[in-house]
Amino acid sequence: MPDSGFGIYVHWPFCQAKCPYCDFNSHVVARVDQAAWRESYRAEIARHAALIPDRVVGSIFFGGGTPSLMEPETVASVIDDIRAQWRVANDIEITLEANPTSVEAARFRAYHAAGVDRVSIGVQALNDADLRRLAADGRFRRDLLDRLAFDVITVPPLRERLEDILPLAYAFAINMASELKRELFAGFGARASSSLLQHDWPGNISEMRQCIVSALDKSTLQPFLVEAQRLMGKSLARNASS
Ligand code: SF4
Repeated sequence: MPDSGFGIYVHWPFCQAKCPYCDFNSHVVARVDQAAWRESYRAEIARHAALIPDRVVGSIFFGGGTPSLMEPETVASVIDDIRAQWRVANDIEITLEANPTSVEAARFRAYHAAGVDRVSIGVQALNDADLRRLAADGRFRRDLLDRLAFDVITVPPLRERLEDILPLAYAFAINMASELKRELFAGFGARASSSLLQHDWPGNISEMRQCIVSALDKSTLQPFLVEAQRLMGKSLARNASS
């Protein structure tokens, strides 16, 4: 019987600088041969797949070191190799640890495109005043105060991000299908996809999630159409069966 509680940890042992208090397996080098690392990960994944076959992967965690220094191509290659060797859960969670100094919007879009859906960032405080208070209390090193920097990532509303609408709708749908113990979510038809793209989504992502969850939390297509019509107006309901 396949076990769905199977997670894979992928270690990236490189950082931009070595923090003086750090005991992790992390190293600073002038250049990392990412192609060589992709091949090494591929060989290691194949080796473990031969040792532990017939498992369902529920999560992948990229830890380090500083995995946000990995080229997105390397992250994508690892995820693809894992998907090629094992079956993965519909609601698989793929996390990448990030050091705030290496957070960059474009790079993170590429991680997301590769399949990463969760970022793990360690935070001491969310504003300068709190951080200085922690340092004054001896709970944060004073010499690090001026070495931290944060990039603010502004996310526009969903209706301005057409490229995100179908992937998000699909992700919400397969999560819901998984909760309902359905083996498969077959996807949206062409006209339903078109309606999803044309809808104005005034309530942003939470409205979309509510719409998809409510519509799929039914066992037949007809309640799906009725619920979708109530939540979105007529366009999706009219086209959802196509
Ligand atoms: S960034 Fe993290 S892993 Fe890297 S040296 Fe500092 S504490 Fe260690």
